[in-house]
Amino acid sequence: MADMNDARAALKHYFGYDGFRPGQEPLIEAILQGRDALGVMPTGAGKSICYQIPAVLLGGLTVVVSPLVSLMADQVAGLEDNGIHAVYVNSTQSLEEQSAALAEAASGRCDAVYVAPERLGTQQFTNFAARNRIALLAIDEAHCVSQWGQDFRPAYLGIGDFSAGLPYRPVIAAFTATATERVRHDIVNLVGLRNPQVSVTGFDRTNLYFDVIKATPTAKRQWIERYVTARPDESGIIYCATRKETEALADDLRGRGIAAVCYHAGLPADERSRAQRDFVNDDAHVVVATNAFGMGIDKSNVRYVVHHNMPDSIEAYYQEAGRAGRDGEPARCTLLWSDGDITTRRRFIEMGSDNERLSADEAEIIRNRRRVLLDGMIGYCRTTDCLHRYITSYFGETDDTPCSGCSNCDSEFETVDVTKIAVAVSRCVHDVQVLLGLGENGRPRNLGAGKLTQILRGSDAQEMHDWRHLDSAPTYGSLRDVPAARIRDVISQMTSDGYLAVEDGKYQTITFGTRAAQTVRNDFHMVIKQVERPAGRDGESSYGGSSG
Ligand code: ADP
Repeated sequence: MADMNDARAALKHYFGYDGFRPGQEPLIEAILQGRDALGVMPTGAGKSICYQIPAVLLGGLTVVVSPLVSLMADQVAGLEDNGIHAVYVNSTQSLEEQSAALAEAASGRCDAVYVAPERLGTQQFTNFAARNRIALLAIDEAHCVSQWGQDFRPAYLGIGDFSAGLPYRPVIAAFTATATERVRHDIVNLVGLRNPQVSVTGFDRTNLYFDVIKATPTAKRQWIERYVTARPDESGIIYCATRKETEALADDLRGRGIAAVCYHAGLPADERSRAQRDFVNDDAHVVVATNAFGMGIDKSNVRYVVHHNMPDSIEAYYQEAGRAGRDGEPARCTLLWSDGDITTRRRFIEMGSDNERLSADEAEIIRNRRRVLLDGMIGYCRTTDCLHRYITSYFGETDDTPCSGCSNCDSEFETVDVTKIAVAVSRCVHDVQVLLGLGENGRPRNLGAGKLTQILRGSDAQEMHDWRHLDSAPTYGSLRDVPAARIRDVISQMTSDGYLAVEDGKYQTITFGTRAAQTVRNDFHMVIKQVERPAGRDGESSYGGSSG
């Protein structure tokens, strides 16, 4: 049986590298020992080697399942260049070419065969698999099996059946770059990994400075103008939520003498490729784009990525922000957000997708998933913890390295203890439920954040006195001295922390969240950021907090 000495020798012999990267070793070792594996590493961290080395060392064939048909030829050519014999079978080939590739895979000369997941279900391939000993089934982009992510590929659900139908169970190793706890769970269950060696590494991009700024739409615009004009020679990407915004902002920047281009899916193909080319060649320094921009763009010297709006998940944010600093040099990722962004994102989710084939139940499941993803994103905006740590732990990496730069750790904001406010809010939700009783659906009725705030501040509005005796609530007026905006902020943070939840009906109302019980404990404690950093001045100087 091959061991790690053989693996290191193969790494040197085939790839010319002297040592494994963190994360690669435990995965390769497990696979060589016949144990399943799950490798979670960001793109470029070196997942492929984790199955390519075992492919040459294990007796028998490695089947690599990859969704990226258009990349297979390149991947195989790369292996051949390194002296590893591999083939691919996919729909870009004629039937004759497919048969020839399978015959080659069956010849015993081949270490690996690359296929798309759809192929596993074909008679041709199951026949092939029944007659040839498959030592390793390597699943690339394994998150495609999960409906939690954005790249769900139904054919991935067939992988389990495929391996169960084989005469010998191969070692199964799954790899992905985007796997939160839930997605990992899905991969293990749906691909059918048995007691896998799980390795999650490499998510922290230490050359990136993370920065979160809450700002009004006008302040966002001003911040971007100042930031961009202060660094005319640096390449940057500005992501906006809508096509209209990208156009307006690009125009605005051009008016200030900045070589800015605009990119979104609504532009003609030639305009898009021109924008992309100008940006990649440094003819344009700034691209103002929707999330349509970025796939397959290889530009290493992007010095900043600014988000003009909050994306709908940490996955999306990190993928976009992660386009900064690919060269390893310092780069900055700034997220500008406002309460309006949250409302807009929530509205998008409730509008649902336009997939008519979904049943009402399925649509609700998807909406729920998207709500959870959004809460993760809102949590990033509101957290008082290290932003690097927030991201790595979101992706399931336990990382003890100190922060390499983020606006939270630069500690120019203060936290304020809002425990009392939070407890009062929680009691007020309870008061409201008592006063309003149960709705037609048998569940407690609730009120929106605005009404809760009015009750807590002891508002004299007529309806407080006339309707349902709101002024008789024990919490009525209990936060009379607290500004309404502060109460709203606390409600909002309690929602993203799970103490409260937003319930969507005709109006958005506030109910208890899954962690609500904690608010009645003696040791309950809650802080929020004290000051919203002024969105003034350009990057560097605003980190002093009071400078702008
Ligand atoms: P991923 O599949 O995770 O996106 P790749 O497997 O394509 O990443 O690897 C990215 C790059 O890193 C490749 O050029 C690969 O050769 C290189 N690489 C992988 N492992 C090592 C290593 N142990 N030492 C040096 N370079 C490595």
